[in-house]
Amino acid sequence: QRVDNPYVGAGVYVNPQWSARAAAEPGGSRVANQPTAVWLDRISAIAGNGSPTTGSWGLADHLNEAEKQRAARSDGNLVFQFVVYNLPGRDCAALASNGELGPTEIGRYKTEYIDKIVSIVSRPEYSKLRIVPIIEIDSLPNLVTNVSPRNTATANCDVMKSNGNYQEGISYAVGQLGAISNVYNYLDAGHHGWIGWGDTVPEYDNFYASAKQIAAILGKNGATKDKVAGFITNTANYSALEEPYWTVDDVVGGRPVKEQAKWVDWNDFNGELGFATGLRAELVKQGFDSSIGMLIDTSRNGWGGANRPTGKSTATNADDYVNQSRIDRRYQKGNWCNQAGAGLGERPKAAPKPYIDAYVWVKPPGESDGASKEIPNDEGKGFDRMCDPTYGGNVRNGNNPSGALADAPLSGHWFSAQFQQLMQNAYPPL
Ligand code: BGC
Repeated sequence: QRVDNPYVGAGVYVNPQWSARAAAEPGGSRVANQPTAVWLDRISAIAGNGSPTTGSWGLADHLNEAEKQRAARSDGNLVFQFVVYNLPGRDCAALASNGELGPTEIGRYKTEYIDKIVSIVSRPEYSKLRIVPIIEIDSLPNLVTNVSPRNTATANCDVMKSNGNYQEGISYAVGQLGAISNVYNYLDAGHHGWIGWGDTVPEYDNFYASAKQIAAILGKNGATKDKVAGFITNTANYSALEEPYWTVDDVVGGRPVKEQAKWVDWNDFNGELGFATGLRAELVKQGFDSSIGMLIDTSRNGWGGANRPTGKSTATNADDYVNQSRIDRRYQKGNWCNQAGAGLGERPKAAPKPYIDAYVWVKPPGESDGASKEIPNDEGKGFDRMCDPTYGGNVRNGNNPSGALADAPLSGHWFSAQFQQLMQNAYPPL
């Protein structure tokens, strides 16, 4: 009874709580009616906890409203997107979104979190909705890229690799949620600036190893391939869909820029479209169904505004050529926190390209990625210096400046200045 692509012939849920915050901003009414995802970033978010991140609504409140939005449509179809984001030892290579469960608390993840979500989502009154869980942003590829013996290893990622609780939790979520017939599971698959390097030498390969790492959930805890509708890229990131003016294979000074330019640094891709379709093919090889489709988060990857280049550079050295030609204005692709210069990307859209099920706004624009200084809180959120504009970086971003905006609140809290910048630099423009 599932359709191939749930976004086709359907609307997507507009979260009234996000919508109100967007509409309250000057100029915000231009985007306030766009669909965004609901994040269940703690156990208490399921019931609703009244925090600045969650607002006053719980999951059932959102689903009740979604059913109203569905019933009001002439096609009678509505996608409800929510993010399953509460793994034990969450966000093991960063601090801004560490979360509430310690590395060993897989039991609580299953019984107090996933089982509770399942008991709500499976209610008969929601059976006409197309329910899309976005499963665990920023998780499995960490077990490839941020573990020993690599120099990017963190102690927490080593722990999560050795205890297996990421795979245990994700497979359990996929198995339980996927048993509901109107649910379409999409799993996180990072972004090209994180895992776009494929190589036969293990120490240089993130791409094939990440696909294998993700496929290793198949067969565990009822996670079978028929329970995976697809994957999502770019939710916690700002990578462009594509670079319109250059490719990584362009030759400058007799060699491809891929091999010379610091911005590329041997990455096989320079945008999410090429990466998502390439990774999709590899995931099918690794055991996922050939009907899977990809979602790409375009909430913050617009890169418009005054600094957007308008054509290919004529520079004769590779760094200048790439830096002058690229629309993505970050210091480095490993930069993920509240990026200066970013804009809203493509508006959410069904089936925009082959193999892409939809462009989506899963990270709600205007919600911070992390605080720019230490802020005491009861949301399990630490202070990550990648969110501090004065930070000179670390090995995971090639020791580049963080590129973060100043004065950011805790992750998930409304960041008005960021929202204003995203609208100003939107591409396509608003
Ligand atoms: C935060 C969550 C928040 C989400 C969406 C994450 O970075 O950790 O608390 O719900 O972003 O804004």
